[in-house]
Amino acid sequence: MDLKTMVEAFSGTEAGNFLNSFPWKEIPVKEMKFSIEGIATAMYCALTDSLKVAPDRSDEVFFGSVIHELRHAAQRHDSGLMLYLLKKTFTRHKLEREARSAELSATQWAGEQRIQKWRKNNENA
Ligand SMILES: [Zn+2]
Repeated sequence: MDLKTMVEAFSGTEAGNFLNSFPWKEIPVKEMKFSIEGIATAMYCALTDSLKVAPDRSDEVFFGSVIHELRHAAQRHDSGLMLYLLKKTFTRHKLEREARSAELSATQWAGEQRIQKWRKNNENA
C-alpha cells in the first residue's frame, strides 16, 4: 500500500477523521534528504504548506510520524497561517498533544493493518 492509499484508509477511522477537514491530498509531498534532515522521518512546513518525508520508509512508526505532521497541517488549515504560528509560539503543548495523539493512533492502526494482512495470507496458505 502506498502512502496516499494508507492515509486515505486511515481517514476513514475515528482517529483519522481530522483528515476530512482539509484538502491533504493537495499538499505537495517531497522526499527529504537524509544527510540534511538527520533522523526525522517526516516534516511539515507551515509556511509553504508542504510535507517532506524520508525515502524508502514503510513501517508503522514512519506512518505515525506522517500522520503527526498531517495533524499539524490540519491545525494550520484550521487556524490559518498567522494564527497557527502564534499558537505554535504560545500554546505549543496543545498542538503537540493533538499531533502526538493522532500519531499514536496511526501507528497502532498501521500495525493492526499489517497483522490483518499477515493473518489473511496465512489463512489462505
Ligand atoms: Zn509536532
